[in-house]
Amino acid sequence: MIIIELNKRQEKIVEIVKENGPITGEHIADQLNLTRATLRPDLAILTMAGYLDARPRVGYYYTGKTSLQLVSDSIKKITVKEYQSIPVVVDKNVSVYDAICTMFLEDVGTLFVVDNSSILVGVLSRKDLLRASLGKQDLTTLPVNIIMTRMPNITFCEKDDNVYEVAKILIEKQIDAVPVVKRNGEQLEVIGRFTKTNITKALVDLIHEDM
Ligand code: ADP
Repeated sequence: MIIIELNKRQEKIVEIVKENGPITGEHIADQLNLTRATLRPDLAILTMAGYLDARPRVGYYYTGKTSLQLVSDSIKKITVKEYQSIPVVVDKNVSVYDAICTMFLEDVGTLFVVDNSSILVGVLSRKDLLRASLGKQDLTTLPVNIIMTRMPNITFCEKDDNVYEVAKILIEKQIDAVPVVKRNGEQLEVIGRFTKTNITKALVDLIHEDM
């Protein structure tokens, strides 16, 4: 669905349908002294944007949805796969020192820890690595699996999940990112990374579409 600013003619069509619906395209065209063909793109836009609905052999009717409902409808249709990023993973046996280097080099705030077949076993955030650095341990020999948040306590999502639902989970759990996983029987294979930045991007695109 797209959110649009209606032009004068489209507003007129909405008014006609609001008062006379259900009404055929032919009858709307008559009221505006236009041909059915001229109206077709406007009717397509209004239907796609959710202002009008069309029933075969009945005609167009007004959905009664407010702009806010239309915006929320469109947000609820965005899925994780449209905005997910490439995951940055480290093996469960790498050192905390190497994980810190990876985090800087890859410029991410969350690393996913995997075993040797890309199966999710842990999550490392910036603060997890900072906390480990405060101790007296040798970071080059301390393996990440000692300090990571581990399964089954990891929050994850799947590629067809709704961005809005995942956003609510990030807020509720007070975390910055979730791995996008593919289920492999009992195991979860890491296929993506979904972060607060991805959600911000989705929001910006949505507003941009509206302009
Ligand atoms: P930071 O700690 O850098 O502010 P987060 O808020 O994302 O970053 O992480 C807070 C804590 O939650 C950390 O201990 C981290 O290991 C854990 N965490 C982060 N992401 C997840 C996740 N997807 N599932 C479970 N725990 C997570």
